[in-house]
Amino acid sequence: MTQPIFMVGARGAGKTTVGKALARALGYQFTDTDVFMQQTTGLSVAEVVAREGWAGFRQRESDALKAVTAPRTVVATGGGAVLSAENRAFMRAAGQVIYLRAPAGTLAHRLEEYPLDAQRPTLTGKPIAEEMVEVLAAREALYQDVAHHVLDATASPEEIVAAIQRSLNAGAL
Ligand code: ADP
Ligand code: MG
Repeated sequence: MTQPIFMVGARGAGKTTVGKALARALGYQFTDTDVFMQQTTGLSVAEVVAREGWAGFRQRESDALKAVTAPRTVVATGGGAVLSAENRAFMRAAGQVIYLRAPAGTLAHRLEEYPLDAQRPTLTGKPIAEEMVEVLAAREALYQDVAHHVLDATASPEEIVAAIQRSLNAGAL
């Protein structure tokens, strides 16, 4: 298999952490659309949102998604990349899509424990635990819809990587 692999899921689900470990295990490249955007614009996510609004950010995110997609590459997407039907169709057609699924409480706990990883402006201005419940309610169907593989993201990164490899191999039979 040489198809690109897209990691989707909410902020804190482990798209970056697990995506990097998966890339190492497969001997693939790893790219993160958020990091790619920061490098190409010289702006943080918060700065792009402040200047161009969420709509401007989403357009840049769609462009970044296409720009980084290549064979033998694991692509960690932004939590909201699935909001765009165009992004969903693109990812499903271009490669294998992995949904890292975790309950809102787990996501909120991780983001509170590692605030540096939560540099993105909050979407609603509400406490993080409440926001995660709302974000998941709004997006769960989209994550499920786009995913070829749905994984329990509460396991350890090593366990998740092993489970993804089993799921990818099962799909390839
Ligand atoms: P995302 O890229 O989906 O926003 P990250 O990979 O940045 O998520 O992970 C968010 C935080 O949660 C990080 O501090 C990371 O170390 C931690 N984390 C990620 N995956 C796991 C996991 N499977 N178990 C425990 N902690 C995790
Ligand atoms: Mg990330």
